[in-house]
Amino acid sequence: MKILVINSGSSSIKFQLFSMKESKVIASGLIEQIGEQTGQIKISSIHHKEPITKTLHIKNHEQGIEIISSFLTDEKIINKLDELDGIGHRMVHGGTMQETAFINEKTIKMIEDFSSLAPLHNPPGLSGVRATMSKAPHVPQVAVFDTAFHQTMPNYAYMYALPYEFYERLHIRRYGFHGTSHHFVATQAAKELKKPLKKCNFITLHLGNGASMAAIKNGECVDTSMGLSPLEGLIMGTRSGDIDPAILFYLEREEGLDIKELDTLLNKKSGLKGICGTNDLREIKAKIKDGDERAKLAFDMFCYRIKKYIGAYFAVLGRVDALIFTGGIGENAVSVRHKICSELKILGIDIDKKRNEKRGVLTHFESKKSTIKLLVVPTNEELAIAKQTQHLIRKAAKRS
Ligand code: AMP
Repeated sequence: MKILVINSGSSSIKFQLFSMKESKVIASGLIEQIGEQTGQIKISSIHHKEPITKTLHIKNHEQGIEIISSFLTDEKIINKLDELDGIGHRMVHGGTMQETAFINEKTIKMIEDFSSLAPLHNPPGLSGVRATMSKAPHVPQVAVFDTAFHQTMPNYAYMYALPYEFYERLHIRRYGFHGTSHHFVATQAAKELKKPLKKCNFITLHLGNGASMAAIKNGECVDTSMGLSPLEGLIMGTRSGDIDPAILFYLEREEGLDIKELDTLLNKKSGLKGICGTNDLREIKAKIKDGDERAKLAFDMFCYRIKKYIGAYFAVLGRVDALIFTGGIGENAVSVRHKICSELKILGIDIDKKRNEKRGVLTHFESKKSTIKLLVVPTNEELAIAKQTQHLIRKAAKRS
């Protein structure tokens, strides 16, 4: 079975083609700067050691998909796009959709309806969908939503204490994001612990440029740190995470900042970058070595916020089997894991320093004394999307 996974941004398309038998990537690539004067293409396949790179004007997503399709046929990986077994699309906002869904008129309408809540993500996601639908009309297409895994949250966890009518009329509530990743690493961790996911209580930490945590009870999400948008919660690369909303009124009054400027401030100029000038944790570590105090402050703030959320999620869950770290920082930043976990002895967490040195591989790093397992589980959102797409297609085939 061959499944193509598409992740469409406003001016980009990222793709991976999987052979599902071995869960293996047989081709992958990134097309960027779609719609701009010069677009960038970087594509590789199992037939090439070095990726193929090209620069040319790419009009729109449809042309981007055409380029991917031609590459796959030229490389003789497939004869035509329309012979694939399935195409899985990453969709950021699925509203209250709990499940992965076949893409049809109803799903498209639902994604459109939620576009106002994810204006930067859902419309380009749909451009990708429309492009693959016209190029491969006979291939089942599936939408996998970042928000879906979090839809099991109880109402007291997802509601904001705003006038109730805003929830009813405008759907203002917490949705959560990175759901595909939280679910994927929880599933992998349950396998590693040889325990059914349905019996596992986990705290998952997806720490990358975007960062979020989830409290998982008996395999289901009961709380998560991101909210209506991916701005709430942890301190991130360039996003502030939780702040007092009154800061916005103050900035408007004192600095005359308008809504657009405030949006840019909180999403693009805050977080680690706002404090110390860079959002790259490797640079922050280098700066700390050179005695940069702001870099140290950013690092301490980042870890402290996570520590607070871990404490809160212990209270939410009552019993915790494991903390699971993933994402670029969670998988690689030994010092972040060390700082957070070594300050949580009170919760039964005890770290094995040597085992914590490993990077980017599935590993345990709790000591023998620890009552809580500590795991690093590399995330693979694309493979998770491919697997969910395959699962839905197989389920439908069984039914018919
Ligand atoms: P992501 O958004 O998941 O790709 O993660 C990006 C973040 O991971 C950036 O802050 C990187 O600095 C960080 N990161 C990647 N590799 C490492 C590493 N080896 N050590 C520390 N941080 C890393």
